[in-house]
Amino acid sequence: MNRSRHRMKKLARRTPSGRTSLLTKNKKPKQAHCALCRKTLGGVPRESRSGMRKLSQTQRRPERSFGGVLCANCTANVIKTRTRLQSGVADESLVPLTVMKYVKMLKA
Ligand SMILES: [Zn+2]
Repeated sequence: MNRSRHRMKKLARRTPSGRTSLLTKNKKPKQAHCALCRKTLGGVPRESRSGMRKLSQTQRRPERSFGGVLCANCTANVIKTRTRLQSGVADESLVPLTVMKYVKMLKA
């Protein structure tokens, strides 16, 4: 199937002459999901690339670390893990690699 056609949403519209015609509109992208738990992210609008450009930077994603990438729970988890590793309470071998990736990003 043609990729550009697939993105189109078909809507039936009654014209002034009484005829029904199909109106096609671009489909909106799917809701953003957390990279760790796949939960849908709040504060991230379902806008196309051009629609996103019309918004201000702070309207595109939450303005916190990992905003628009991780959900609030996972972000808290990553920050807690970082602190536990730094203070030596936790061991690096016990932290899942998927979480470790974001912990290392925080350090830098
Ligand atoms: Zn999450």
